[in-house]
Amino acid sequence: MNNLNENSLEPVALFIAGKFVPSIDMETLSAFSPFDGSVIGQFYKAKANDVDLAVEAAYSAFYSGPWKKITPKEIGEALAEITTGLKKNMSQLIKTEILDAGSTQKKAREDVFLSIKCMNYYTEWASGRTTIEEIANLSRSGIQQNFIQHDPVGVCAAIIPWNFPLKMAVWKIAQALATGNTIVLKPSEETVLSAYKLAEIISQTSIPDGVVNIVAGIGNEAGEALVKHPKVDKISFTGSTDVGKKIMALASETLKNVTLECGGKSANIVLDDVEIDLAVDGAIYSMFYHSGQCCEAGTLLFLPEKFHDKFVEQLITKVKNFKVGDPSARETHIGPLISERQQKRVLGYIEKAKEHGATLVIGGGIPDDVDFSDGYFVEPTIFTEVTMDMAIAQEEIFGPVLCVLKYNDETDLLEKVNGTKFGLAGGIWSSNRDRAFELAKKIRTGTVWINDYHLIDEKAPFGGYKQSGIGREFGDAGASHFTEAKHIHWGEIENKERTIRMKTIVPS
Ligand code: NAD
Repeated sequence: MNNLNENSLEPVALFIAGKFVPSIDMETLSAFSPFDGSVIGQFYKAKANDVDLAVEAAYSAFYSGPWKKITPKEIGEALAEITTGLKKNMSQLIKTEILDAGSTQKKAREDVFLSIKCMNYYTEWASGRTTIEEIANLSRSGIQQNFIQHDPVGVCAAIIPWNFPLKMAVWKIAQALATGNTIVLKPSEETVLSAYKLAEIISQTSIPDGVVNIVAGIGNEAGEALVKHPKVDKISFTGSTDVGKKIMALASETLKNVTLECGGKSANIVLDDVEIDLAVDGAIYSMFYHSGQCCEAGTLLFLPEKFHDKFVEQLITKVKNFKVGDPSARETHIGPLISERQQKRVLGYIEKAKEHGATLVIGGGIPDDVDFSDGYFVEPTIFTEVTMDMAIAQEEIFGPVLCVLKYNDETDLLEKVNGTKFGLAGGIWSSNRDRAFELAKKIRTGTVWINDYHLIDEKAPFGGYKQSGIGREFGDAGASHFTEAKHIHWGEIENKERTIRMKTIVPS
């Protein structure tokens, strides 16, 4: 079956056990362009019986295929082949992300570059990895040796959202494979195309059939089937908090290892010792990157009273200079939102903000240019006079809507910053390193960037406090979620301490 052949009218096929196959009942869904709403392709829609085939494939590959005996060095070599494939297919991957996800050209390029960087990192990480290590000096005396073996968890199911389709797929596959697992990945039904391009790349490597399987389908069918499947050992989910909660409840039936990367309402804090021009650019970058469709976007901008008005004026000037439009055009800063549903959701929050008394200072609607009429655009929008009791300050909007708030002192600031149910990330802009560090320590989020934003690195943990998630991607913490720690104890034959201990129960 031909996958992603631009001249083919065939629907894009599921990737199961190393083969591209249609769904069992041959049902398809359409892929839409966020820029103009046109249909850009069809793909087969996996349901529970297709998911079952994919899980069985991942299960056999884990328990009885050659992957079972693979060494870390060989895993590194296998991941290197994916890295090479990603590099060879860069231009098509960039094109796909622009077309299918509405990513601007600059963002799509960055996503592909960062996907390659991530796969490359795990190539090296896996090659240099030790899966067994000795634990020194256990608290009991006696002649013994103790080890931890870091086993793969088994069959992992990864469920991902639409905002960074390729990057998320690569994150999940790289981490699962580097630790020796097999995987079934479910991309978002909004953005399936780059995941299947990745499947094509993987199908051309020496990675055994069934180690990676990709099944597109809708959340409450294919997604739930994965979450409930008894042969899935781990769920690695990235998406909204509401769906995360549902997944956690469903996965409890089979007590799966669950990690959740969920929503956010991140604060971007400007201290009064700041270099204002830098902080204005930082506020724009943190909020409007990918039209605000970033889980860790700096949606709550906290400004000190003393330069609030000047800062907002500068923000407005910059926002007026945004080029909103065709994501494939080099000069475009702001592209469309992913779907009509998302566009309506964001416009709904804008209306609520007005009702709740926030002041709209720029944007607030759909751009009136005729070119945009069929696409899912929302103007870059800024509200001032936002207070923490408003829905726009508490709920995730996931669109280009910046909420500006004032603060009086550090106590007031921290109460507000830590005053939502989320705890994903945040930023501080300051010229005073010590002061910013002290503040960062008090913020209840998984990441705080000082004088920067959106920097996620494979060596550093990324994830959320509170309702932003459970567990971490990346770093040692990330690897620990894809592995089981097995303790292996060796007791010497001659061992006085053990003899005495056993006497508590063993009759002489
Ligand atoms: P979503 O929760 O609607 O969907 C995410 C994925 O879950 C999709 O693949 C969807 O099909 C699937 N899904 C939906 N219902 C399901 C169910 N009942 N069972 C199993 N799977 C199900 O999220 P979205 O709209 O695609 O993406 C936006 C959300 O993702 C935002 O809330 C954003 O903050 C979050 N996100 C978080 C991170 C992070 O790292 N914390 C990163 C990116 C996006």
